[in-house]
Amino acid sequence: MSKLQAFLEKALKEKNRQSSQHLGDRRTYIGASDIGGCPRKAVLTRILPVEHDAATLLKFARGHAAEDLIHGIFQAGGLTPLREMEIRHPVFPDLLCHIDFLFKAKSGRFHVVELKTTNGLPDTPYGSWVDQLHFQMGLLALHYPGADIGGSILAIDLNAGTWHEFNSYKPDEITFNLLVAKGRRIKACLDVGETPDVEPGLLCGFCPYRIDCPAFLEEAFVIPDEVQALAKRHLEATELKKTAEKKVSKLKEDILSFTGTRFKGKSDSLFINTSEVGPSETVDAYVLKNRFPDVYQQVKKERAGFTRLDIKPI
Ligand code: SF4
Repeated sequence: MSKLQAFLEKALKEKNRQSSQHLGDRRTYIGASDIGGCPRKAVLTRILPVEHDAATLLKFARGHAAEDLIHGIFQAGGLTPLREMEIRHPVFPDLLCHIDFLFKAKSGRFHVVELKTTNGLPDTPYGSWVDQLHFQMGLLALHYPGADIGGSILAIDLNAGTWHEFNSYKPDEITFNLLVAKGRRIKACLDVGETPDVEPGLLCGFCPYRIDCPAFLEEAFVIPDEVQALAKRHLEATELKKTAEKKVSKLKEDILSFTGTRFKGKSDSLFINTSEVGPSETVDAYVLKNRFPDVYQQVKKERAGFTRLDIKPI
């Protein structure tokens, strides 16, 4: 690692510490992201904290940078939301949230915006995002009974330069009460040193406690909804690819029926060239290996492995 990289990695830790200062000591409370996520991870994060690597810290820093960027854009457009507004549960003070952006209209209406940075925008918001937003709106509703409250999730893909707002959420008492109960369960497990149940989701891919996670040790893993949604999209995209490949092949046939195998032509907008590619030779690795194993050993090359993904509809 170069000196500059070593310096940046050290400084990145400090930068993340500074950017998260407003969140206080997360070991002392259960926040909205804990309640929206996996209870086992929430507990283990507190009792067995891990040092994050540079890649994870950079992702955190990207989230902070996106918040600053969106805040700047709101301000440039003449809006002045409250940032990182802390709201504590009046009866269970261990449960609290920090609202990314809170708007209060002159009419008294509140609007909560939860910002999420992603790699690619999902078609629908992830369940953990929605739970987080519901918990925030529910706490707000407890502090401002009867107020008109709404919420949205703003997902932003900084690399692609795209964003999408999932809007029109309203506080829901039943959902909020379930989330409060979940937060209290996490706190109770922490107090007595128990590990709570798992709640697998897409973020398992980034979880430092996955290695011995009971969910992944089970024979038949029940696929979480958000991963199911991705797998379905993968199946649909694969079908589209097959259809597109067939279409390309048929179009090629039609064009070749006009051009033949040797042709050069152009129009105002395109150029067409066809030419014959002669036959070539290849080595049958199976025969070589069996009949000339010494030669095979001398000429073989390592090929990098890859992860195979098979998805089949049931
Ligand atoms: S791997 Fe997933 S289910 Fe297991 S603890 Fe981590 S977040 Fe929870």
